[in-house]
Amino acid sequence: MNIVFFGPPGSGKGTQAQLIVTRYGIPQISTGDMMRAAVKARTPLGDMAKAIMDAGGLVSDDIVLGLVKERVSQSDCSGGFILDGFPRTIPQADALIALLNGIGKKIDFVISLDVDNQELINRLSGRRTCPACGKGFHVLYDTPELEGVCDGCGAFLVQRDDDSEVTVINRLKVYEEQTSPLKSYFKNLGILHTVSGIATITEIEHQITAIIDAGGIGDRS
Ligand code: AMP
Repeated sequence: MNIVFFGPPGSGKGTQAQLIVTRYGIPQISTGDMMRAAVKARTPLGDMAKAIMDAGGLVSDDIVLGLVKERVSQSDCSGGFILDGFPRTIPQADALIALLNGIGKKIDFVISLDVDNQELINRLSGRRTCPACGKGFHVLYDTPELEGVCDGCGAFLVQRDDDSEVTVINRLKVYEEQTSPLKSYFKNLGILHTVSGIATITEIEHQITAIIDAGGIGDRS
């Protein structure tokens, strides 16, 4: 079962992907996480991508594709995977389909999470992460017991460099221009399933698992 989680930054793709990982035992492939790991490790790729990411732009298709190609061919992906944050452009989607074709696979579902821009800005600019264990918080919606400190491991929480308000606005513009056209692309392929991203995490998870458990048969919008 190969799933693409699609939607603007802040729509909850990463959160929902993690729940699906737990429920179905397939790995999450987050190109954003892979890029952030490369930046943190100061690899040549990370050094090159940092400025683009900090400005809210997209890293080149070739680079991201190279990462995904290597990752999906690893053995833990043989029973399926969840792509989170990829593809983000039509050339990336074309390349993904060709890549999967070449190894006898396909995308089974695209789950698109819909959230309006004002809500996205609120969510992203209040988002905080633990740099030590990766746990996520929000200054309004999911506060830690002690302000600014991770409940899980006690480290000081940080804001992602690209979650500042200026960068968030650019990320949403880039999404609108380069990524949102993929909605009709996936719709034309008959694999798009749209879920409202404005509900509780559990309610959204139920809607997504209902789509997956029904084998993709049902409401397609
Ligand atoms: P994300 O965590 O998915 O919001 O990704 C963070 C940043 O990583 C994005 O703003 C881009 O700069 C870069 N990135 C992640 N995935 C892709 C992708 N599929 N194509 C191009 N750039 C990406």
